[in-house]
Formats: sequence, structure tokens, C-alpha cells
Amino acid sequence: MEREAARARMETLREVLARYSHQYYILNASEASDAEYDQLARELEQLEREYPEYAVSDSPIRKVGGGISPDFKTVRFEKPVLSLGNLHSFEEFADYAGRVSQWLSEPEPLDWTVELKIDGLSIILDYVEGRLVRAATRGDGAVGEDVTANVKEIAAIPEALTEPVTGQFRGEVYMPRSQFARLNEDRLSRGLGMFANPRNAAAGSLRQLDPEVTRERGLSAFIYEIRELAEGPAIERQSMALQRLKAWGLPVESHWRLCRQADDVRAFINQYETERPPLDFDIDGLVIKLDRVDWQERLGATQKTPRWAMAYKFPPEEALTRIRDIVISVGRTGTLTPTAELEPVLLAGTRVSRASLHNEDILRELDVRVGDSVFVRKAGEIIPEVVRVERSLRPPDAMPFVFPSRCPACGSEVVRVPGESAHRCTAGLTCPAQLRESLIHFASRDAMDIEGFGEKTVDLLLENGLVHSVSDIYRLDRASLLALPRFAEVSAEKLLQNILRSKDQPLSRLVYGLGIRFVGERGAITLAQHFGTMQGLMSSSEADLIAVPDVGPRTAESVRQFFDAPVNRRIVEELQGLGVNMEEPRGQNVDRGPLAGQTFVLTGTLSTMTRKEAQARLEALGAHVASSVSASTTAVIYGEKAGSKLERAQALGILRMQEQEFLQWLANQAGNA
Ligand code: NAD
Repeated sequence: MEREAARARMETLREVLARYSHQYYILNASEASDAEYDQLARELEQLEREYPEYAVSDSPIRKVGGGISPDFKTVRFEKPVLSLGNLHSFEEFADYAGRVSQWLSEPEPLDWTVELKIDGLSIILDYVEGRLVRAATRGDGAVGEDVTANVKEIAAIPEALTEPVTGQFRGEVYMPRSQFARLNEDRLSRGLGMFANPRNAAAGSLRQLDPEVTRERGLSAFIYEIRELAEGPAIERQSMALQRLKAWGLPVESHWRLCRQADDVRAFINQYETERPPLDFDIDGLVIKLDRVDWQERLGATQKTPRWAMAYKFPPEEALTRIRDIVISVGRTGTLTPTAELEPVLLAGTRVSRASLHNEDILRELDVRVGDSVFVRKAGEIIPEVVRVERSLRPPDAMPFVFPSRCPACGSEVVRVPGESAHRCTAGLTCPAQLRESLIHFASRDAMDIEGFGEKTVDLLLENGLVHSVSDIYRLDRASLLALPRFAEVSAEKLLQNILRSKDQPLSRLVYGLGIRFVGERGAITLAQHFGTMQGLMSSSEADLIAVPDVGPRTAESVRQFFDAPVNRRIVEELQGLGVNMEEPRGQNVDRGPLAGQTFVLTGTLSTMTRKEAQARLEALGAHVASSVSASTTAVIYGEKAGSKLERAQALGILRMQEQEFLQWLANQAGNA
């Protein structure tokens, strides 16, 4: 490259990287993926090597990224909080290990501790005599943000250690994938913007002015480093440090391994690049650390990174494909969601043909058009999303996408609720798409659990004009079902039996099935237990509702609005008239075992017990066992020949546990009961 061109390019790169860093660290949402950022940073690094005369001292590649929001008090670190250098292949690791060996010139082989690189944000904890006194983000490495009050809301981080230790520890705060899926689903149903990935969600949830918000977001943490220790015998190895941290009651990620030689490191990397154990959190690589602390000290650090540790980054999971069409679907609450139909492409091992475009704002911001070539990515292993458009490949006739102003299902007016990014169809249950989704939801496993009343049956009944509201389900009879193409004597009888049986479901399931905004499965249980009867719930005032533990003002308002609508009161009355149970049986869901409120799905053939036995054991601990996977599933337990449920769990980013792991975990739960 010509000198002047190189200088200009370096300047542009610095500007772009600084902008992305600001978005990433301060705004918790960046336009660029990590892979893109890393690619640009590598280019700048290369240019700085070739043209050192144009390098500047505050280049983003020499600074610990981050920054400080003026919203927080600051914390000055005595010892800088560093970042990590990157490796991208085993060969790069072998080179690095060779260099370390040369620097140290020790006869002994090097031991490495290899840990999972948790994709969250760094946290620095100070404990004095075993009590948590301060927590800070990394900030720019010299000064961090004081987030003590927020960190105290993270259940995984103990306020008191098992021993009166005084020291400073470093770790990573993250959002569990299952929690991320729930949070985004909830935000979507409330018309709020979704978080692009669990890392952004974690950063956005920790760096909050109101610690209450942090508490609600369900963050977790892992601690991996002792930065300082006031007294006690010196800790000579990183592997010992991990064990000590755990013994003091701090959460330590358990998959780390002490590797005695480079081949062990290679095996560990291979395992994580091919078949990872199921994890409920995102990792973006591994961290390879020299185990001996005295050697770490001899190697020291650069301005930005330690010389004794390296991040091994996994290859990015992005792919380029073309948009065939953009379709709009209408959900249960009338929300219009745009989805891209793609030319099928292989992405992180699975064939992908659809990607989420979330809402109009995102669609417009990306300026996605039919015919465009786009990069798609698995965001935290949930449904893939479109990351960006490759403009250079845009066909000349590609037209901007016009978001519909009328509902594609019923033609009614579409409104954008002020303060929300979602568009909603205003027709309520007279919109066939909303009616369809409401019926499917009402009959679903976690609601009234009517087997055989899935999408196909609902479509058939709607096409034939047999149902116009959920109460019509209980008006179906043999003759009308037999007139439909898919039903014969036996299947009609079976469906009617299942419908009849659902009349006895507890009130909590009915409340959930009605699909009141902001009332999820757990919320429905809380309300049903508190009020005991539908009558009690329906006649409660907003103030009565807010007085219920775990019910917030937004939910209270929504419940009140729901029951104030004459159409909803009529449906409830009809349901009652048709014999649907309106009470919560005493003791229902009250026996809260250690797993109360959690939902599990079993799939595949288990080798040490039948699924029934596994179900009984889970239920004995208070868990609910469902037969289909949804965003509210806590975990999927799988045996041999597991199929679509396991895939769905993976797609939704839900925790998956293999049988042996499950048994071990079950033993722990039973022990804690
Ligand atoms: P990094 O994420 O590459 O690695 C260092 C971090 O790893 C540490 O700060 C620590 O928080 C974390 N970590 C997780 N598990 C660990 C473990 N077991 N042991 C030690 N550390 C562990 O570096 P960084 O400085 O935090 O961030 C730079 C990276 O952030 C870039 O390489 C890029 O991928 C990303 N980034 C992205 C954008 C964007 O716009 N998308 C912008 C800026 C930075």
C-alpha cells in the first residue's frame, strides 16, 4: 500500500474501531460482530507494524477496551485490569508456547490451565474478611465503574465467603442462555427491543442505575482469578487458585482442565470446536493460562495483555446468503414480526433457511431488501439473525421493504404503540391470525394441555368455521368433527375426551391459557394461588393485584384491563357455563420442592431408567415435566436417539443435559432438598 493511503486507512480504522468500541462497551449494542471487529483490529495491527511512524499511542489496539459511563461512581484499580491476546489456531498456540518456553528457559515442560472463555463482561470483586465490599466493571483497565449494589443482586455471587478472606478476585458476569431466551421472548411480547446476544444483555442488565432491574434480569457469574490476597500461604498455581476460589464459595466454572503438555491442549481445543458439552452460557473461546504463578510473574504483561495467558477464539459462526423473501407473521397479541426467507445455507453445522428480522426498526436500520446478500449469524445459538447487508452485492432493482400499514391476515389497521418498537394489528380476536395463535396457546402443553389440538387441528377448525373463540372448543361435538376430512370415529372420540379432561385443569393453567399480556406460566400460578378462584381474580382491583408478591404494576394493570374488556368477561362466563374448572385446588403447586417452577422435557431413550421414572423423580422435587420444548423450558434431558426436541432446545438456546450428567445433577438436587 502506498504510504499516504496507508496513513489514511489507519486513521479510518482507528475511527471505526473507536466507534464500535463505544457502542459495544458503553451502549451495550454494536453494529459490528466480534469477528468483524477483530478482523479490522488485525488489519490495523498489521499496518502499525509496517508503518510504525503513523502509529499513535492511544490506538484502540493498544488500549484495554471499555470506558466509563458518567452514570456510575468510579473505582481506581491499583493493579491494571488487562485484556487478553488472541490465538486462532493450534499452530498459533504452538508458536506462542515455543516463545514462552524460550523466554523462561526452564528445563521442565510447561503446564497450562485451559478454561472456558465466558462471553460476558469482566467484574472485579473486593472481599474484606470474607464480606463483599465492592464490585467494579473493568472500565478502561485503570478505572472501572462501581456496580456494587447491582452485583449484590446476582445470586451466584456470595455476599459472604466460607472463610474470612481479604482479597480481590476477577470473574465474568453473564446471562444464562435460558434466561436470555426468556428475556427476549418477554421483551418481544411487550414490544420492546430485543438484545442481540447474551453478552449485550448481560452488560445492559449489570450497568443499570436501578439494582432492582439487575435482580429481575437473572444474571449469573463465574470467578476465575485471584488478583490479590492479603494473607495466607501463597497460591502457586492457577489450578490451585480455581480450587481455592471454589472452596471459598465463589462460583467457578467446572470444565477447566490442567493440561500437562501441548497435546492435551490440542485435545481440549478439538473437543470444544467439535462437540461441546451442553452449556447454559455462551463461550467465545478458551483461555489458556500458564499454570505456575512464579512463571507468570517472570513473564509479566504488556500495556494491554498478560504474556502468560492467551484467548483461543473460536471461528466465527457467520455465513453469507441471499434473501428470497420477507414475510410478516402475526402473533397471539397481534404483534407483526418480519422474517427473512433465505436461500438455505450451512451455519455452524445446521441448514438455515429463515432468519429473524425482529421488528420494523431493525429491518429499516439494516435496510434489508428482497434479493440482498446478507450475513447471517447464530445469536447465542437461538434462531439465526441477519447481521448486515453486503451492499456491494445488491441487485440494482432491489426495492426498500415497505412495512405493511394493514394486518396481512385480516386487513385491519396496524398501530405502533407509542414507546414500543412493535406494530400491532388492532382487530384483537376477530383477526384470524390472532385467533389462531390464541387457540394454539390455550390448548398447548403448559396451558390447558389438550393433546391433538395443535396447529393442524386449529387450522382445520378455523377453515370450517367451527371455532370463533376459545370457549367454542368446548362446544365441539362428534358430528361436527366427523364432517372434517382428518377425523374418523376413533380420532374424533379421542380429541373430545382430551377436551373434556382439560375442563378439570387447575385455574393457573386456565389463566395462563387466556394469554393475558405479561402473565406467564409462573405469574399465572402466583395469581391462581393467591386468589383461589376465577371470581376472586376477576373482581380484584389493581391495588389488590399489586399487593400480591411478585406481581408488578404493569402486570396488575394488564390483568385489570383484560378482565375489564366485556369480550373477555363473556368468554370466561361461557367457559364456566361449559363446565371448565374455575378454581385452584388446594395444595396445587404449593408443595414447592427445590425445583418448583421449573419445567423439564425428556427425550430419547434413557439407558438407566424409563422416562416415567425420570419424570417421577423430577416431579418429586417439585418440577413440572412437559412434553414439548418452549422458551420457558428449564432444561431438556436427552438419551440415545434424541431428535427434534433436542434440536429445538438447541435452537432456543435452552440448557441440554445428557443422561449421565442429569443423574449426577439430580443427586445434587435431592441432596439439597
Ligand atoms: P477479549 O474478550 O478478547 O478477552 C478478554 C476477556 O475475556 C477478559 O476481559 C475477561 O473478561 C474475559 N474472560 C472470560 N472468561 C475468562 C477466563 N476464564 N479467564 C480470563 N478471562 C476471561 O478481550 P476484551 O478486551 O474483553 O474485548 C475485546 C474483544 O471484544 C474484541 O476482540 C472483540 O471481539 C470484542 N469487541 C467487539 C466490538 C464490537 O463492536 N462487536 C467492539 C469492541 C470489542
